[in-house]
Amino acid sequence: MKVAVVTGPEAVELRDEPEPRVGADEVFVEVGACGLCTMERRLFLGEKRIYPVAPGHEVAGRVTKVGEAVAELPGSPKVGDTVTVDLLTRCGTCSTCRRGRSALCKRPQGGTLSDGTISFGAGLSEGVVVKAVQAHVTGSAPIGHAAMGEPLACVVHSLRLGGMRAGDRVAVIGAGYMGRLHLALARHRGAAAVGMIDVSRSRLDEARTAGAAWTADPTRPDELEAAGKHDIVFVTAGAPGALETAVDLCDDGGTVVLYGAFPKEMAVPVLPDAIHHRELSIVGVYSQEPEDWREAAGLIASGALAADLDALVSARYSLENVREALKFAATTPVYRVLVGAL
Ligand SMILES: [Zn+2]
Ligand SMILES: [Zn+2]
Repeated sequence: MKVAVVTGPEAVELRDEPEPRVGADEVFVEVGACGLCTMERRLFLGEKRIYPVAPGHEVAGRVTKVGEAVAELPGSPKVGDTVTVDLLTRCGTCSTCRRGRSALCKRPQGGTLSDGTISFGAGLSEGVVVKAVQAHVTGSAPIGHAAMGEPLACVVHSLRLGGMRAGDRVAVIGAGYMGRLHLALARHRGAAAVGMIDVSRSRLDEARTAGAAWTADPTRPDELEAAGKHDIVFVTAGAPGALETAVDLCDDGGTVVLYGAFPKEMAVPVLPDAIHHRELSIVGVYSQEPEDWREAAGLIASGALAADLDALVSARYSLENVREALKFAATTPVYRVLVGAL
């Protein structure tokens, strides 16, 4: 079984890995597509230097083996099913897991390849073994859509923790891949209107085509002014000034959701009295939880977001061309690049 391993900046090799044993409560998933996320780009560029490493955590594929304990279990994936795969480990035992906040598990258990190479999912490969509970069936949806299960689960989580309701006026800061998934899901959930804010004119134009009700450049005060006030503002690009812009865009009683990562040392003055008097909420969201996965897989299977997801596939590569795929994703403004047999 082939697995892509990043061995250094811009250095990628395909290694032969023995096919892993399928435990009683596990399934083997033949990888059809794996999306390249920020982590993969940073490893490839040498911005994050953990080598050698087997990345790839946005995995979808076809179930080819099931463990005996789950083979006949109602609701568990069967051989032949297309699934989107949750590769996050959750201990279930720590204080945050016990509160149902397993995205913040204090004891995530990373895996390794047979030679001890660290695995960050190892989805840039011909197959992965996961607990059956972490494989979510996506019906007859295209495999490329199923590979968007992990980011979509993160966005389901974001709307859930942000408390978005039908009829809400929504603004999204950042019109990249995650911003566009917020646009798609908020529209699907019955937002009154969803607008998008970004410095890239071409991304704003593409967001309009995808259904954004309005767009604004954050460096243009007139455009932000014209955007009006909103019930919920999602910050998907943690740029300097983004939190302040989000608070300004919030109507009284509104919520700012901090979805994107910010520079670690960045500090921003907030006005506690404004938060008090205007009943503003500032909510951090990070990662996803099992109930978000169930919903993301259901959304993918339903086809409700099919056109949105199609528009976000920037390129597809075979596993043999994984290095070219990583180079392209790391050096070009893309939404999602998919790697695999598809
Ligand atoms: Zn991801
Ligand atoms: Zn835990």
